[in-house]
Amino acid sequence: MAEKATILLVDDTRTNIQLLVGCLKHQYRLKIAMNGQRCLELAQNPPFPDLILLDVIMPEMDGYEVCRQLKDNPNTKNIPIIFVTGRNSDEDEEFGLQLGAVDYIAKPIRPAIVTARVSTQIKLKYQSDALRNMAMHDQLTQLYNRHFLIESAANKLAHVDRHGNELSLLMIDIDFFKHINDQFGHHAGDQVLKAIAEILKEGNRREDVVARFGGEEFVVLLEHCSLNSAIEKAELLRAKIEALAPMGIEVTASFGVAELMKQEQTFVELLSRADAAVYQAKELGRNRVVAAENVYVEPHLDKKIV
Ligand code: GH3
Ligand code: MG
Ligand code: MG
Repeated sequence: MAEKATILLVDDTRTNIQLLVGCLKHQYRLKIAMNGQRCLELAQNPPFPDLILLDVIMPEMDGYEVCRQLKDNPNTKNIPIIFVTGRNSDEDEEFGLQLGAVDYIAKPIRPAIVTARVSTQIKLKYQSDALRNMAMHDQLTQLYNRHFLIESAANKLAHVDRHGNELSLLMIDIDFFKHINDQFGHHAGDQVLKAIAEILKEGNRREDVVARFGGEEFVVLLEHCSLNSAIEKAELLRAKIEALAPMGIEVTASFGVAELMKQEQTFVELLSRADAAVYQAKELGRNRVVAAENVYVEPHLDKKIV
C-alpha cells in the first residue's frame, strides 16, 4: 500500500483546524501551522506536503502573502494550494487563483466538499509528480537522462562561477557493446546497461548527477571533486565494472575524466574534453581511465554532444 499523502493545514483558528483534521485525518498524514511563518517552515521540511489548505485572513502574514512566498521558492512552488476562506466573493476567488492556488473552498467548512476537493488535488499532484519524474529519468536504467544532466550542469556551472568550487566529470563508454548485443541479443544488452547503471549509482553523494547520456554512454558529474579524486573514482568504477560480468557476460568500459577549468564557460567545453579523453582510452586499448589534458582549447560546438 502506498504511503499516505501529506497535507499541511494552515489556519489561525483552532476550531477550523479541528474541523479539517476531523475530515482528513483517516486518509492523510497531517501537518498543522497556525500562522503564515510556520507554514513556510513546515512546507520546506520533510515530510513535504503534497497539498496545502491555506486560510486567507490571518494576523501578521495573510494567506495571499504566504501563497506568494511559497510560489516564489523553487523548493515549494510545486506544492498545490487550496484557499479555505470566508472571503468568498468572485473577486476574492479570482485573486486567489491568480496567485497560483489550484482551488478555493468557502467557509463554513463542509466535510464532504473538503474531502472531495482534497482527493481530486492529491490525485492530480501524484500524476504531475509522476510526469515530472519521467521527464527527468531514463526509463531503462532509471538514471537521470541527458536533458536533466544538461539542465543541472548549467546550475552547477553557475554555482562554480559564484563560489569557485571544483567540478569534475566522468564520461563512460562501454567497450564493444555492439558485440554484446550481436552475441547475446538486445535484451541481454539492456540487462548489462542496467547492471552498469547500478554500479554507477552506488556510493555517490546526493549532489552528484549520474546520467545515461546516450545508448551505452554515461556521465557522472561530481561537485566539489578535484581531477585527482575524479580519476580515483573512475578507476574504482572501472574495476567494479570489469569484475561484474552480469549474466556471465564479460564487459568493460572506457573512461574520460575532466575537471572544469577557469576559462571554460559552458558545459559543452567540459564535455568535449572528457569525450576526447574517452576517445584516447579507446585508442589505447579500452578498459582504462584517461584524464583530459588541462589545456584550454577554443570550444568547438560538437553536434554529437549538444
Ligand atoms: P566501442 O568500444 O568503440 O565503444 O564500441 P561499441 O560497440 O561499444 O560502440 P558503438 O558506438 O559502435 O555501438 C554502440 C551500440 O550500443 C550500438 C547500439 O545498438 C547499442 N545500443 C544503444 N542503445 C542501446 C540500448 O538501449 N539497448 C541495447 N541493448 N543496445 C543499445
Ligand atoms: Mg558509444
Ligand atoms: Mg561503446
